[in-house]
Amino acid sequence: MPKKLKGRKGLLVVISGPSGVGKSTVVRKLLSIDLKLKMSISATTRPPRPNEKHGIDYFFITEEEFFDRDKKHLFLEWAKVHGYYYGTPKDFVEEQISKNQTVISEVDVQGAASIKESVTSGKIKCATVFIFLIPPSVDILAFRLRRRKTESEELVNYRLRAAIAELQVMEKYDYIVVNDKVDSAAEKIKAIINVEKERVLLN
Ligand code: 5GP
Repeated sequence: MPKKLKGRKGLLVVISGPSGVGKSTVVRKLLSIDLKLKMSISATTRPPRPNEKHGIDYFFITEEEFFDRDKKHLFLEWAKVHGYYYGTPKDFVEEQISKNQTVISEVDVQGAASIKESVTSGKIKCATVFIFLIPPSVDILAFRLRRRKTESEELVNYRLRAAIAELQVMEKYDYIVVNDKVDSAAEKIKAIINVEKERVLLN
């Protein structure tokens, strides 16, 4: 028997992985199969792609606004990714965690490292789990980046080189999930979350 059952607490689920691995598609699927999960919507200085909506995919803001928010310590973490700034709003995550919710945060590898650092230093005081999504192969990653057709060939090659470098950090994560098929990757993450929620209960 555990020494103490402290009651249910919030859980921060950090999902990261190389650019183009399909993080946002898998996360979208995950949110559709587990309606209780709360998605953290990031702020970014990147212009919206066709079909992306403010407040749903991202909060699309100017660089000036971004740095103003950073100065006011409104980000849990932020990073420059492929020339644009991305940040996780702190208030939303803290509020949901305090309500014992499970929050999904999809960030690049720098963002995940920064959250890990905040957990280690005690700046973030909640249960966390770090999940790294990998492609079945580098060839498949290249194919997926090109299929998006949202970036030039030069940018695709740049993102591919960055992605290969990003794969080197995967051993720092709690779980590695292969994104072979979107549905099965989302199911695997859901199973991880369910197990981790039980672990939180016993802490
Ligand atoms: P995209 O522009 O393709 O939507 O995202 C580019 C990269 O930024 C992806 O790797 C995505 O996971 C990452 N990203 C999205 N939101 C955040 C955030 O709030 N913080 C950090 N560090 N990375 C983010």
